Amino acid sequence: MLRISDILDKAQAYLLPDDLEMIEKAYIYSATVHQGQVRLSGEPYLTHPMEVAGILTDMKMDAATIISGLLHDTIEDTLTTAEQLEREFGKDVAFLVSGLTKLSRISFGSQEERQSENFRKMILAMSADIRILLVRLADRIHNMRTLQYHPKDKRTYIARETMDIYAPLANRLGINSMRMELEDLSFQYIAPDAYDELTAKIAKSKEARAKYTEEVKSIIARELEKNSIKGKVEGRAKHLYSIYKKMHEQHINFDEVYDLIAFRVILDSDLEKTCYEVLSLVHALWKPVPGRFKDYIAMPKANNYQSLHTTVIGPYGERVEIQIRTRNMHEWAEKGIAAHWRYKEGRAYKDSEDNQIKKLREVLEMQQDIKNPKEFMSDLKLALFPEEVYVFTPHGDVKSFPKGATPIDFAYSIHTDVGNQCIGAKVNRSIVPLRYKLQNGDRVEIITQAGHHPSKDWLKNVVTTRAISKIRNWINLDEKRNSMALGKELLEKEFKRNHLKFSNCLKSDEMSKAINGCSLNQLDDLISQVGLGRISPKRIVHYFLTGQEEELKEPVKEKIKTKKTASPSMGVSLLGIDDPDDIMVNFAKCCNPIPGDDIAGYISRGRGVIIHTGNCPYIKRMDKERIVNVQWNTREDHTYPVNIKVICDDIKGILTEVSSIISSFDVNISYAQVETENLIATCTFVIDISNLPQLHQVIAAIRQLKFVKSVEWLHHF
Ligand code: MN
Repeated sequence: MLRISDILDKAQAYLLPDDLEMIEKAYIYSATVHQGQVRLSGEPYLTHPMEVAGILTDMKMDAATIISGLLHDTIEDTLTTAEQLEREFGKDVAFLVSGLTKLSRISFGSQEERQSENFRKMILAMSADIRILLVRLADRIHNMRTLQYHPKDKRTYIARETMDIYAPLANRLGINSMRMELEDLSFQYIAPDAYDELTAKIAKSKEARAKYTEEVKSIIARELEKNSIKGKVEGRAKHLYSIYKKMHEQHINFDEVYDLIAFRVILDSDLEKTCYEVLSLVHALWKPVPGRFKDYIAMPKANNYQSLHTTVIGPYGERVEIQIRTRNMHEWAEKGIAAHWRYKEGRAYKDSEDNQIKKLREVLEMQQDIKNPKEFMSDLKLALFPEEVYVFTPHGDVKSFPKGATPIDFAYSIHTDVGNQCIGAKVNRSIVPLRYKLQNGDRVEIITQAGHHPSKDWLKNVVTTRAISKIRNWINLDEKRNSMALGKELLEKEFKRNHLKFSNCLKSDEMSKAINGCSLNQLDDLISQVGLGRISPKRIVHYFLTGQEEELKEPVKEKIKTKKTASPSMGVSLLGIDDPDDIMVNFAKCCNPIPGDDIAGYISRGRGVIIHTGNCPYIKRMDKERIVNVQWNTREDHTYPVNIKVICDDIKGILTEVSSIISSFDVNISYAQVETENLIATCTFVIDISNLPQLHQVIAAIRQLKFVKSVEWLHHF
């Protein structure tokens, strides 16, 4: 059984005395809280966290990680709380152990699900600190080493989970030693017969193999010496699972697996060119097998692994696989990401968050010149900047969304109809509001109802472009449908007033002229423009009868406000009118006046008073008799829609960032859209502003965002 003195002995080689004291304190704490708990093996529970800490010490991890290893099960299995851990061992440890507790609570469903790459990404994203994953892997290694004490069905289950999730995860982080051990341990329980058979065969040929290994090693070593290259040659049997996989994949017998032993040249030099030098020596010695040379130095693997691999025809005509690498490359190959907690000159540096991120950045930068590092980089980015959330469908598929996504985004990601007809959602089997923000690991189920439609308000609660465009699509179509009906009705009335039957005039030349005269393409457009209030039916009839344009052109952009007409005077009082609340007031869409602007009212037919800005070109061209004096009568609860355009770099989550700035002023966003082109994003917002100073504040705040290039207020002329 591992003792605390063993751990401290190993740790004192690279940690500070203060660190050692803390590790000892954590040991005592863990022993106290786990007291009386027993493992399936009959041993005291404490042996488990001790072994985990031991593995982490062998990996030369920092003190916080080793302490977290000692305490990793305390929140889950004892009465210990995160607050207590923070008091006793500091923020770092409390954070790591809380992260581990969260991670241990994710349950893994079907095998397909577990094997999905999304799943591994999810785990990465959920572990905000990579050290959480390293402790988790060490935890799993010890559990696998002691798996024999579990009942049989449980053994297989845990072994499969290890093979599906933890071994690939170790591989992803480049920790080869862990991956191989996890694979071999899992293999032993998943396919015990094959495992035993293979072990027996390897044992049988052991002696001959040892002799052969020595022979090849000494030939290579002699060649290095002749050329004054310093380094060591290793020859070791490949791990069982890789042999098994090879036999399985290539449909060959054990005797046909030639390269059971992997030879490795680890150079003292840190120069890449020495690796190529050694390669040419080896190729001069033995004939290379065509197509088996792999240059992972020039093109590292996705997990940053670097080495030269070659297969040659050896002294007995057999295939020999040889890997050539520098010491640094070797350290990475064995320890992967964990190699980055290195200690300079025997002294531990303070492993602050900054330092850690800097280290990881170095890895990223190191990869920038390399052809296919995308996968690894995005994973690291996920780990450092978790901007995405991963959730499950009821079938167990994993879907990813930007942070802030809601069940509506989820619904649209399944199907447009599911989105459009979505009336509610269940998350982890309980009903949530549609504005609920999805969390990592949520299981989301959408409730739909045939005939249900999206509402404009949904736009406030979605972040994915897909949902935004689908909702806008629907609203546009809906507006068009409504405007068609309304337009037709208005035109029918107006034609009737002039003793004409609208339906009889549809295909006439006069109608075509009217359509052309309004710069439109077809009749449907004309009807909907009338319905939207952009063209008056009177103007059409006039055209129809005279073939000429009416004298007064109406503002093209002016549009009836549909929603706000309910509250009549809208914060505007008309001079000389006692009871302004009786008068319907609308704001012109062409100039969107807001409190503080100089304004004028235009008495329309049937649409009440339309408020324009004083310098609006449209109102200047209108009938002077119909223009009235108006003044702002600002009331707190009144807001006015303002269009703003934000031009910025096309980065992830712009909409959310800008929206949150706007919302921080308690300003409602009634519409938001992003269009991107050539890495530049154009965001359009319609925001409900109470007064001019507030608008200026909002605009100034958006301008402060570093990725924003310009903010424009689409308003005056
Ligand atoms: Mn554990």
